[in-house]
Amino acid sequence: EKFKQGLTKTRDSFAGKMNDLVKRYRKVDEEFFEELEEILISADVGVVTVMDLIEMLKDEARTKNIQDTEELKTVISEKLAELLEKEEGDADLNIQKDGMTIILVVGVNGVGKTTTIGKLAHKFKTEGKSVVLAAGDTFRAGAIEQLEVWGERVGVDVIKHQEGSDPAAVIFDAIQSARSKKADILICDTAGRLQNKVNLMKELEKVKKVIAREVPSAPHEVLLVLDATTGQNAMNQAKIFREATDVTGIALTKLDGTAKGGIVLAIRHELDIPVKLIGLGEQMEDLQPFDAGTFVYGLFS
Ligand code: GDP
Repeated sequence: EKFKQGLTKTRDSFAGKMNDLVKRYRKVDEEFFEELEEILISADVGVVTVMDLIEMLKDEARTKNIQDTEELKTVISEKLAELLEKEEGDADLNIQKDGMTIILVVGVNGVGKTTTIGKLAHKFKTEGKSVVLAAGDTFRAGAIEQLEVWGERVGVDVIKHQEGSDPAAVIFDAIQSARSKKADILICDTAGRLQNKVNLMKELEKVKKVIAREVPSAPHEVLLVLDATTGQNAMNQAKIFREATDVTGIALTKLDGTAKGGIVLAIRHELDIPVKLIGLGEQMEDLQPFDAGTFVYGLFS
């Protein structure tokens, strides 16, 4: 329900245009595909992904001799779901069955990183897991306090140092603290400045090294937070972070605030990183695990 509600803007726009298209054409032809292409591009699906998708659809229409646009619409939703879930379960978070799971959260300032960490902590808590947060963004003024506010709201401990201190040292301390508390999950915030890729890379490398020295299998997830309302900007950020570190999944925020939810497809297909979480509002409960089937269903109905 929440999922569907959060996608209202995208659905109203996308489903509306799709239904109109199917009604106007009835028969599948070249012009139909051209208009379909435009609709997909206007939903931020991304040119490369749209081209690949149209190619897949044309193939399918040819081999299965599909001429009815209503019938092709079903194929469109199937192909969208396929693009979104390349392997079954690829959107699941890598949570350890035994021992502590360490999640590193990266992303540019303003995308919703702190909010996502807070929501994620809440989600784990409601699952009965114990959570510790590490205030690893020591760079941005107010970042530590903001994380503490979320910590209090959710009811989890936040390990912090002073502003300007070494993030790797904060995260080292957080690991010790989480260990002594036998916490299930440690979520580490990181600084979100992007001015200098070399610095970003160095800082993330150092943090990852400290984590791996303490817990060799960690970090178990490196989640990149992206803002769905920023379109191509989000894609560019993803490319930079992917070069800087091994991103294992994406948390896509503010999907409720855009009619261009097609960005999910562009990210999944062009960057080949699974979208694992989506943000559908500002409240604690407004973070959902990503599910390809539900997403596509939410687009069309
Ligand atoms: P940070 O700088 O990346 O840590 O960003 P914040 O967590 O402070 O979030 C920036 C703004 O985006 C805040 O006003 C959040 O309430 C808002 N925000 C975060 N996630 C979502 C979301 O999924 N939906 C909506 N509508 N707003 C969000």
